[in-house]
Amino acid sequence: MALGEILIDVSGVAKHYGEGETRVDALRAVDLQVKAGEVIALLGPSGSGKTTLLNVIGCIIDPSAGRVVLDGEPVFDGKWLRRDLRRLRLEKIGFIFQAHNLLPFLTAEENVAIVLDLAGWSSDEGRKRARELLDYLQVGHRAPMKPAHLSGGEAQRVAIARALANRPRIILADEPTAALDSSRAQLVMDLLRRLAAEQEACIVTVTHDEKIFDRFDRLVQLRDGRLVGA
Ligand code: ADP
Ligand code: MG
Repeated sequence: MALGEILIDVSGVAKHYGEGETRVDALRAVDLQVKAGEVIALLGPSGSGKTTLLNVIGCIIDPSAGRVVLDGEPVFDGKWLRRDLRRLRLEKIGFIFQAHNLLPFLTAEENVAIVLDLAGWSSDEGRKRARELLDYLQVGHRAPMKPAHLSGGEAQRVAIARALANRPRIILADEPTAALDSSRAQLVMDLLRRLAAEQEACIVTVTHDEKIFDRFDRLVQLRDGRLVGA
């Protein structure tokens, strides 16, 4: 493990939805490599394929063609090479969605710890790790609260703690700061950057938020399903 190691290697990836007259080519022959420690922004107009690309990297949707290698492991090459995609996601990928989608009947701490439970951590270790991360993200004092009692920014930071809990090396985020004001957005990006460096992870973030562009190592632009310069 080292900084500079390629964690995401996407080559010739295409994705179309539908067939015939209703066919939409959401991605066309996309090549993208992201290294450990790198924090990149995925930009592009609405409908350009950003969410589709993030979901392909996150093994949430099937590519139509191409090859995907995650953390050195070929996972898709014309077809999925791993049968248990849920486990793959649990091991390698942290996903931060635009809406936080925390489980409403669990506390902030339990929302984080449940992921670790699924990953096979003991409940003591899971709780400890959850508390550590919530503290780190400055929402430790909210650990016993249910999501309904958290502000938007607090809920988003709990969701980030959950995505990072199992120390994934690939962190994917779809507009994670959309619901935050600009100082909180910068705080969240700074925390993500620090975690990426510490965990030798990489981060791919879809964003429209010009206020945080200076927080990225690289800006990658999609247009009509193609990458147009870095
Ligand atoms: P972005 O995130 O950049 O707005 P998307 O990846 O969501 O773009 O969408 C890319 C294209 O694929 C758009 O034309 C969109 O309408 C289409 N698309 C996305 N998801 C689906 C789907 N599930 N079924 C059909 N078309 C879809
Ligand atoms: Mg989108």
